[in-house]
Amino acid sequence: MTSEKREILYNLEKEYVEQLIKGGDTSSVLGELNTITSKICVDFQEKAVNSIHVLIKLSSEIYFDSSFLKSATLIETSSLTDFVTEQDFLQAKEFVSDLLRVDLENVGFLFLPKQVENNTEGFCVSCCDEKHHVFIQNDQFGVVSKDLLVHELGHAADFTISRSIDNDNLLVKHSSISEAVAYYCQYKYLLEFSEKHRRIGAFGAFLLTYLSICILRYCLANDSPLNEIIPEIAVNDEHFLNIVNSYGHEGRDFVVGKIHMLKEQHKELGSLVYNEISPRFGMVLALKLLDKTVEEIVEIIQINSIDNDLAQIVEKILSPTNNGFGSVQNHFEDFFD
Ligand SMILES: [Zn+2]
Repeated sequence: MTSEKREILYNLEKEYVEQLIKGGDTSSVLGELNTITSKICVDFQEKAVNSIHVLIKLSSEIYFDSSFLKSATLIETSSLTDFVTEQDFLQAKEFVSDLLRVDLENVGFLFLPKQVENNTEGFCVSCCDEKHHVFIQNDQFGVVSKDLLVHELGHAADFTISRSIDNDNLLVKHSSISEAVAYYCQYKYLLEFSEKHRRIGAFGAFLLTYLSICILRYCLANDSPLNEIIPEIAVNDEHFLNIVNSYGHEGRDFVVGKIHMLKEQHKELGSLVYNEISPRFGMVLALKLLDKTVEEIVEIIQINSIDNDLAQIVEKILSPTNNGFGSVQNHFEDFFD
Protein backbone atom coordinates (compact mmCIF):
# COMPACT_ATOMS: atom_id res chain seq x y z
CA MET A 1 0.00 0.00 0.00
CA THR A 2 1.31 3.40 -0.96
CA SER A 3 1.84 5.67 2.02
CA GLU A 4 0.40 9.17 2.10
CA LYS A 5 3.87 10.70 2.14
CA ARG A 6 4.94 8.72 -0.90
CA GLU A 7 1.84 9.87 -2.73
CA ILE A 8 2.59 13.52 -1.94
CA LEU A 9 6.19 13.04 -3.01
CA TYR A 10 5.19 11.44 -6.32
CA ASN A 11 2.73 14.24 -7.11
CA LEU A 12 5.36 16.87 -6.40
CA GLU A 13 7.88 15.04 -8.56
CA LYS A 14 5.38 15.03 -11.43
CA GLU A 15 4.86 18.76 -11.02
CA TYR A 16 8.61 19.40 -10.87
CA VAL A 17 9.23 17.45 -14.10
CA GLU A 18 6.37 19.31 -15.81
CA GLN A 19 7.78 22.69 -14.78
CA LEU A 20 11.26 21.75 -16.00
CA ILE A 21 9.87 20.62 -19.35
CA LYS A 22 7.90 23.79 -19.92
CA GLY A 23 10.64 26.04 -18.54
CA GLY A 24 8.47 27.30 -15.66
CA ASP A 25 9.42 28.48 -12.18
CA THR A 26 10.52 25.51 -10.05
CA SER A 27 11.32 27.30 -6.78
CA SER A 28 8.04 26.66 -4.98
CA VAL A 29 7.80 22.99 -5.94
CA LEU A 30 11.43 22.51 -4.92
CA GLY A 31 10.59 23.99 -1.52
CA GLU A 32 7.68 21.59 -1.15
CA LEU A 33 9.88 18.67 -2.20
CA ASN A 34 12.33 19.58 0.56
CA THR A 35 9.53 19.73 3.09
CA ILE A 36 8.15 16.30 2.23
CA THR A 37 11.66 14.81 2.19
CA SER A 38 12.26 16.08 5.69
CA LYS A 39 8.99 14.47 6.77
CA ILE A 40 9.97 11.16 5.21
CA CYS A 41 13.35 11.26 6.98
CA VAL A 42 12.84 13.19 10.21
CA ASP A 43 16.37 12.93 11.57
CA PHE A 44 18.09 13.67 8.27
CA GLN A 45 20.63 16.12 9.77
CA GLU A 46 21.89 13.65 12.33
CA LYS A 47 22.23 10.90 9.73
CA ALA A 48 23.99 13.19 7.30
CA VAL A 49 26.52 14.06 10.00
CA ASN A 50 27.16 10.36 10.58
CA SER A 51 27.76 9.88 6.84
CA ILE A 52 30.21 12.80 6.86
CA HIS A 53 32.28 11.05 9.54
CA VAL A 54 32.29 7.81 7.56
CA LEU A 55 33.34 9.63 4.38
CA ILE A 56 36.16 11.47 6.16
CA LYS A 57 37.54 8.13 7.30
CA LEU A 58 37.16 6.39 3.93
CA SER A 59 38.53 9.21 1.81
CA SER A 60 41.62 9.49 4.04
CA GLU A 61 42.85 6.27 2.40
CA ILE A 62 42.87 7.76 -1.12
CA TYR A 63 46.21 8.85 -2.62
CA PHE A 64 47.30 9.56 -6.18
CA ASP A 65 50.82 10.35 -7.34
CA SER A 66 51.55 13.35 -9.55
CA SER A 67 52.26 11.45 -12.78
CA PHE A 68 48.93 9.65 -12.46
CA LEU A 69 47.12 12.95 -11.84
CA LYS A 70 49.00 14.53 -14.72
CA SER A 71 47.63 11.98 -17.21
CA ALA A 72 44.13 13.22 -16.35
CA THR A 73 44.97 16.94 -16.36
CA LEU A 74 46.38 16.61 -19.90
CA ILE A 75 43.15 15.34 -21.46
CA GLU A 76 41.44 18.03 -23.54
CA THR A 77 37.77 18.11 -22.54
CA SER A 78 36.84 19.01 -26.12
CA SER A 79 38.00 15.52 -27.15
CA LEU A 80 35.36 14.03 -24.83
CA THR A 81 32.33 15.89 -26.12
CA ASP A 82 29.70 14.25 -28.33
CA PHE A 83 26.72 15.69 -30.09
CA VAL A 84 23.93 13.69 -28.43
CA THR A 85 20.60 12.90 -30.07
CA GLU A 86 17.32 11.28 -29.12
CA GLN A 87 18.63 8.15 -30.86
CA ASP A 88 21.71 8.09 -28.60
CA PHE A 89 19.39 8.34 -25.63
CA LEU A 90 17.41 5.31 -26.83
CA GLN A 91 20.61 3.33 -27.33
CA ALA A 92 21.91 4.31 -23.90
CA LYS A 93 18.55 3.30 -22.45
CA GLU A 94 18.79 -0.13 -24.03
CA PHE A 95 22.33 -0.54 -22.71
CA VAL A 96 21.42 0.26 -19.09
CA SER A 97 18.19 -1.68 -19.31
CA ASP A 98 20.10 -4.82 -20.38
CA LEU A 99 22.91 -4.23 -17.90
CA LEU A 100 20.72 -3.99 -14.80
CA ARG A 101 17.78 -5.98 -16.22
CA VAL A 102 15.30 -3.21 -15.55
CA ASP A 103 12.49 -1.77 -17.65
CA LEU A 104 13.26 1.88 -18.50
CA GLU A 105 10.53 2.26 -21.13
CA ASN A 106 8.84 5.18 -19.36
CA VAL A 107 11.97 7.22 -18.69
CA GLY A 108 11.88 10.56 -20.54
CA PHE A 109 14.57 12.78 -22.00
CA LEU A 110 14.98 16.47 -22.79
CA PHE A 111 17.90 18.61 -23.92
CA LEU A 112 17.16 21.84 -22.06
CA PRO A 113 17.44 25.01 -24.15
CA LYS A 114 18.95 26.90 -21.21
CA GLN A 115 20.82 25.85 -18.08
CA VAL A 116 18.59 25.36 -15.02
CA GLU A 117 20.99 23.70 -12.55
CA ASN A 118 24.45 24.98 -11.72
CA ASN A 119 27.67 23.02 -12.12
CA THR A 120 26.23 20.09 -13.96
CA GLU A 121 25.70 19.04 -17.55
CA GLY A 122 23.06 16.45 -16.81
CA PHE A 123 20.71 15.27 -14.09
CA CYS A 124 17.98 12.71 -13.61
CA VAL A 125 14.81 13.65 -11.73
CA SER A 126 13.04 10.79 -9.98
CA CYS A 127 9.35 10.58 -10.78
CA CYS A 128 6.92 8.01 -9.36
CA ASP A 129 7.91 4.35 -9.63
CA GLU A 130 9.36 4.48 -13.12
CA LYS A 131 8.65 7.76 -14.97
CA HIS A 132 11.98 9.41 -14.22
CA HIS A 133 13.28 12.12 -16.50
CA VAL A 134 16.79 12.77 -17.78
CA PHE A 135 17.72 16.38 -18.51
CA ILE A 136 20.86 17.42 -20.36
CA GLN A 137 22.05 21.02 -20.54
CA ASN A 138 25.12 22.89 -21.69
CA ASP A 139 27.46 23.79 -18.85
CA GLN A 140 30.52 25.99 -19.12
CA PHE A 141 32.78 23.34 -17.54
CA GLY A 142 30.77 20.21 -18.27
CA VAL A 143 31.07 17.62 -20.99
CA VAL A 144 27.99 16.37 -22.79
CA SER A 145 28.65 12.86 -24.10
CA LYS A 146 27.03 9.50 -24.73
CA ASP A 147 28.47 8.07 -21.54
CA LEU A 148 26.85 10.96 -19.67
CA LEU A 149 23.48 9.71 -20.96
CA VAL A 150 24.36 6.26 -19.67
CA HIS A 151 25.28 7.74 -16.29
CA GLU A 152 21.95 9.58 -16.00
CA LEU A 153 20.04 6.48 -17.06
CA GLY A 154 21.97 4.62 -14.38
CA HIS A 155 20.29 6.99 -11.91
CA ALA A 156 16.92 6.21 -13.50
CA ALA A 157 17.59 2.46 -13.13
CA ASP A 158 18.64 3.01 -9.51
CA PHE A 159 15.35 4.84 -8.78
CA THR A 160 13.21 2.18 -10.49
CA ILE A 161 14.93 -0.74 -8.74
CA SER A 162 14.81 1.03 -5.39
CA ARG A 163 11.14 1.97 -5.78
CA SER A 164 10.08 -1.49 -6.97
CA ILE A 165 9.87 -2.46 -3.31
CA ASP A 166 7.42 -0.45 -1.30
CA ASN A 167 9.74 0.81 1.44
CA ASP A 168 9.63 4.53 2.25
CA ASN A 169 13.06 4.36 3.91
CA LEU A 170 14.54 3.91 0.44
CA LEU A 171 13.22 7.29 -0.72
CA VAL A 172 16.09 9.14 0.98
CA LYS A 173 19.47 7.70 0.04
CA HIS A 174 23.22 8.04 0.39
CA SER A 175 24.36 10.03 -2.64
CA SER A 176 27.71 8.20 -2.73
CA ILE A 177 25.93 4.86 -3.26
CA SER A 178 23.47 6.22 -5.85
CA GLU A 179 26.38 7.77 -7.73
CA ALA A 180 28.30 4.49 -7.52
CA VAL A 181 25.44 2.78 -9.38
CA ALA A 182 25.34 5.51 -12.06
CA TYR A 183 29.13 5.46 -12.47
CA TYR A 184 29.07 1.66 -12.62
CA CYS A 185 26.80 1.89 -15.70
CA GLN A 186 29.00 4.62 -17.21
CA TYR A 187 32.22 2.62 -16.62
CA LYS A 188 30.69 -0.52 -18.15
CA TYR A 189 29.75 1.51 -21.22
CA LEU A 190 33.20 3.10 -21.46
CA LEU A 191 34.86 -0.31 -21.16
CA GLU A 192 32.74 -1.71 -23.94
CA PHE A 193 32.56 1.15 -26.42
CA SER A 194 35.30 3.71 -25.75
CA GLU A 195 38.98 4.28 -26.06
CA LYS A 196 41.38 4.71 -23.20
CA HIS A 197 41.46 8.52 -23.32
CA ARG A 198 37.70 8.64 -22.63
CA ARG A 199 38.11 6.54 -19.50
CA ILE A 200 40.93 8.78 -18.30
CA GLY A 201 38.71 11.74 -19.22
CA ALA A 202 35.91 10.39 -17.05
CA PHE A 203 38.35 10.34 -14.12
CA GLY A 204 38.92 14.06 -14.76
CA ALA A 205 35.69 14.67 -12.85
CA PHE A 206 37.48 13.40 -9.73
CA LEU A 207 40.34 15.93 -9.83
CA LEU A 208 38.39 18.63 -7.98
CA THR A 209 37.23 16.01 -5.48
CA TYR A 210 40.80 14.89 -4.90
CA LEU A 211 41.75 18.51 -4.24
CA SER A 212 38.85 18.63 -1.76
CA ILE A 213 40.20 15.52 -0.04
CA CYS A 214 43.63 17.19 0.22
CA ILE A 215 42.02 20.34 1.66
CA LEU A 216 40.21 18.16 4.17
CA ARG A 217 43.49 16.50 5.21
CA TYR A 218 45.22 19.86 5.47
CA CYS A 219 42.43 21.31 7.66
CA LEU A 220 42.39 18.27 9.93
CA ALA A 221 46.19 18.21 10.24
CA ASN A 222 46.26 21.92 11.11
CA ASP A 223 43.10 21.83 13.20
CA SER A 224 41.74 24.66 11.07
CA PRO A 225 38.21 25.38 9.89
CA LEU A 226 37.77 25.66 6.12
CA ASN A 227 37.00 29.39 6.16
CA GLU A 228 40.26 30.19 7.95
CA ILE A 229 42.71 28.57 5.59
CA ILE A 230 44.72 30.90 3.36
CA PRO A 231 45.08 29.30 -0.08
CA GLU A 232 48.31 31.16 -0.91
CA ILE A 233 49.94 29.66 2.21
CA ALA A 234 48.22 26.27 2.20
CA VAL A 235 49.32 25.52 -1.35
CA ASN A 236 52.96 25.24 -0.19
CA ASP A 237 52.08 22.43 2.19
CA GLU A 238 53.10 18.86 1.35
CA HIS A 239 49.41 17.88 1.19
CA PHE A 240 49.11 19.73 -2.13
CA LEU A 241 52.49 18.81 -3.63
CA ASN A 242 51.26 16.08 -6.00
CA ILE A 243 48.34 18.11 -7.26
CA VAL A 244 50.43 21.25 -7.82
CA ASN A 245 53.07 19.24 -9.72
CA SER A 246 50.49 17.53 -11.89
CA TYR A 247 49.41 20.88 -13.37
CA GLY A 248 52.90 21.84 -14.54
CA HIS A 249 54.50 25.27 -14.00
CA GLU A 250 51.17 27.09 -13.58
CA GLY A 251 50.12 24.51 -10.99
CA ARG A 252 50.49 26.65 -7.92
CA ASP A 253 48.30 29.52 -9.19
CA PHE A 254 45.76 27.10 -10.59
CA VAL A 255 45.41 25.22 -7.30
CA VAL A 256 45.22 28.48 -5.31
CA GLY A 257 42.33 29.57 -7.55
CA LYS A 258 40.51 26.28 -7.06
CA ILE A 259 40.93 26.37 -3.26
CA HIS A 260 39.45 29.89 -3.27
CA MET A 261 36.55 28.61 -5.36
CA LEU A 262 35.85 25.66 -3.04
CA LYS A 263 36.02 27.97 0.00
CA GLU A 264 33.42 30.21 -1.67
CA GLN A 265 31.11 27.30 -2.44
CA HIS A 266 31.40 25.62 0.96
CA LYS A 267 31.27 27.59 4.13
CA GLU A 268 32.57 24.70 6.22
CA LEU A 269 34.24 21.30 6.00
CA GLY A 270 30.99 19.41 6.54
CA SER A 271 29.55 20.96 3.40
CA LEU A 272 32.72 20.22 1.42
CA VAL A 273 32.50 16.56 2.46
CA TYR A 274 28.76 16.19 2.02
CA ASN A 275 28.29 18.10 -1.22
CA GLU A 276 31.59 17.64 -3.04
CA ILE A 277 33.33 14.50 -1.74
CA SER A 278 30.27 12.34 -1.03
CA PRO A 279 28.74 12.16 -4.55
CA ARG A 280 32.10 11.79 -6.31
CA PHE A 281 33.15 9.10 -3.86
CA GLY A 282 30.75 7.04 -5.96
CA MET A 283 33.44 7.06 -8.69
CA VAL A 284 35.73 5.09 -6.40
CA LEU A 285 33.00 2.76 -5.17
CA ALA A 286 31.91 2.08 -8.77
CA LEU A 287 35.30 0.46 -9.48
CA LYS A 288 34.49 -2.06 -6.76
CA LEU A 289 31.12 -2.82 -8.36
CA LEU A 290 32.60 -3.78 -11.75
CA ASP A 291 33.05 -7.45 -10.81
CA LYS A 292 29.69 -7.86 -9.10
CA THR A 293 26.67 -9.73 -10.44
CA VAL A 294 23.41 -7.94 -11.25
CA GLU A 295 21.82 -9.59 -8.23
CA GLU A 296 24.53 -8.20 -5.95
CA ILE A 297 24.12 -4.70 -7.37
CA VAL A 298 20.35 -4.83 -7.00
CA GLU A 299 20.85 -5.92 -3.40
CA ILE A 300 23.06 -2.88 -2.74
CA ILE A 301 20.50 -0.54 -4.37
CA GLN A 302 17.80 -1.98 -2.15
CA ILE A 303 19.68 -1.28 1.08
CA ASN A 304 20.64 2.26 0.02
CA SER A 305 18.70 4.21 2.59
CA ILE A 306 20.05 7.00 4.74
CA ASP A 307 18.60 4.94 7.60
CA ASN A 308 21.28 2.32 6.99
CA ASP A 309 24.82 3.05 8.10
CA LEU A 310 26.97 4.10 5.15
CA ALA A 311 29.99 2.23 6.55
CA GLN A 312 28.06 -1.04 6.47
CA ILE A 313 26.87 -0.56 2.88
CA VAL A 314 30.44 0.23 1.82
CA GLU A 315 31.65 -2.88 3.62
CA LYS A 316 29.19 -4.91 1.59
CA ILE A 317 30.48 -3.32 -1.62
CA LEU A 318 34.06 -4.13 -0.62
CA SER A 319 33.34 -7.75 0.26
CA PRO A 320 34.60 -10.41 -0.16
CA THR A 321 38.18 -9.10 -0.62
CA ASN A 322 37.79 -6.03 1.56
CA ASN A 323 41.14 -4.48 0.64
CA GLY A 324 39.91 -0.93 1.25
CA PHE A 325 40.81 2.08 -0.88
CA GLY A 326 44.60 2.10 -0.42
CA SER A 327 45.29 0.84 -3.95
CA VAL A 328 42.64 2.91 -5.68
CA GLN A 329 45.20 4.42 -8.08
CA ASN A 330 46.13 0.92 -9.36
CA HIS A 331 42.49 0.13 -9.65
CA PHE A 332 41.87 3.21 -11.82
CA GLU A 333 44.94 2.34 -13.93
CA ASP A 334 43.55 -1.16 -14.58
CA PHE A 335 40.25 0.41 -15.57
CA PHE A 336 41.95 2.82 -18.01
CA ASP A 337 43.91 0.00 -19.70
ZN1 LIG B 1 25.26 11.24 -11.07
